[in-house]
Amino acid sequence: MSQTSALKSPKNLVWLRRDLRWDDHAAMAHASQLGEVFVAAFIFDREILDQLANKSDRRVEFIWEAVSALKNHLISLGGDLIIRYGNASEMIPELVSQLKVKRVICAKDYEPAALIRDQKVEQLLSSLNCQFIQVKDHVIFEGTEVLTQMSKPYSVFTPYKNAWLKKITAHDVAERSVDLQHLAKPDGKLCALPSLEAMGFTETNLKTLRIPLAQAGAQLLFEEFKERMDAYSETRNFPAVKGPSYLSVHLRFGTISIRQLVRHAHAIFNSTNSEGAGVWLSELVWRDFYFQIVANFPHSATNSFKPDYDLIAWDQDQELFSAWCEARTGFPLIDAAMIQLNTTGYMHNRLRMVVASYLTKDLGIDWRWGERYFAQTLNDYDLSANVGGWQWAASSGCDAQPYFRIFNPISQSEKFDSDGLFIKRYLPQLANLSKKDIHAPWLASPMVLSGANIKLGENYPKPVVEHDKARLKTLARYAVVKTKAKN
Ligand code: FAD
Repeated sequence: MSQTSALKSPKNLVWLRRDLRWDDHAAMAHASQLGEVFVAAFIFDREILDQLANKSDRRVEFIWEAVSALKNHLISLGGDLIIRYGNASEMIPELVSQLKVKRVICAKDYEPAALIRDQKVEQLLSSLNCQFIQVKDHVIFEGTEVLTQMSKPYSVFTPYKNAWLKKITAHDVAERSVDLQHLAKPDGKLCALPSLEAMGFTETNLKTLRIPLAQAGAQLLFEEFKERMDAYSETRNFPAVKGPSYLSVHLRFGTISIRQLVRHAHAIFNSTNSEGAGVWLSELVWRDFYFQIVANFPHSATNSFKPDYDLIAWDQDQELFSAWCEARTGFPLIDAAMIQLNTTGYMHNRLRMVVASYLTKDLGIDWRWGERYFAQTLNDYDLSANVGGWQWAASSGCDAQPYFRIFNPISQSEKFDSDGLFIKRYLPQLANLSKKDIHAPWLASPMVLSGANIKLGENYPKPVVEHDKARLKTLARYAVVKTKAKN
């Protein structure tokens, strides 16, 4: 930041939301290219925070850490970060009036609630003669950028991915370089970082989870994953193995740029044909795919993508739902996965598929109940990927698994956690069971169970449903869809 920027009043305000980094940052790059003095602001938005029932929320702490790092970085360059706590849709226009800026620049957010908020902000800013500029940052291709030859949005992944790969150019993934020489130092009174407690939240176990935090943490994770990327296609399905990148929470809050990740994976895949890099790149394309699904088919955020599936009569069984949430189903892989979620806010992708299938197809519970539970508990909760994943499992989504494909939780366990290592990590009471018995303890003989110190119904639950019976019930439940399809 130059001395002059410190003295001049800003012309532009960069509003940071889910782009909590300073490198490869589309909104700040846009502001710096304008060549005018700007300030950056982050609002702890009460319209979002007040809705969080759990006041010990890892995501709020994650954001707090990212904002704190961002603030320190800007201070180290002679600037600072404006930080407010209140309703963003009111605070941004207030800041505009106070600072007399002529533009607000931010990264476009695609979630339905954010679209409503941004529309409101745009109107308020327009009455203040302030322009509202939204730039693409969270995805490589948004809404209608990748369309079929008939100019329709894709609803099947593979042709979408092929079109996506055909379309991508160096420009799409180029770093959005930020030049902070025009960053102004705002009035210190606007820049105080409120404590979690001041906002009604308490510290969580986030720091004990060894998730590297903020932009620097995301870069560390990515550097470490680069070494493992080649093996991703073989390791990614086994929850006891360090296979995936664990970058999802950083993508969620923008402490890392999607362009940086795609740039790297695409280059490695093109230069070495690495299967791991290719499969990982596909996962990043899935992310764009689900973003465009919610953008083009907004009904799918709350209803079945395929409307016929809204005719399914789900069981309103609160008891079974609680058993699922609280890891008391009696199926070790399901319970271990739910403990992983409840205690860390993360769940391995294979397990997300297995527990989602189990909730909808073994317990007969509406995918929306599970989707909401994940929304409350996942650190990386992202509406589009979450709804996409749930509707995939429930078969109601675009390009979903057919309704008659029902995961068997025991064979999934035998296949993807064959030695029971993941199960034992989260259910130590099953540690003495052999790798044969650990997947379905109720099938073990009484002698084996007593030798392993397990009393079913006491220190580990009996199964809450029988998979084979549940499967038949589900096929009957989904018959309504089959009948509709025939007519
Ligand atoms: P990696 O395997 O390293 O993948 C890299 C990145 O690719 C991820 O960080 C993510 O951004 C993206 N990605 C990977 N798989 C998918 C996918 N199937 N759909 C969309 N993007 C994907 N992902 C979320 O980010 N937020 C969610 O709320 C979410 N909910 C899900 C719910 C269900 C029922 C299912 C089946 C999947 C869900 N996913 C969600 C997708 C996936 O499980 C996570 O992205 C992944 O487990 C995150 O771990 P990672 O960063 O180590 O992934």
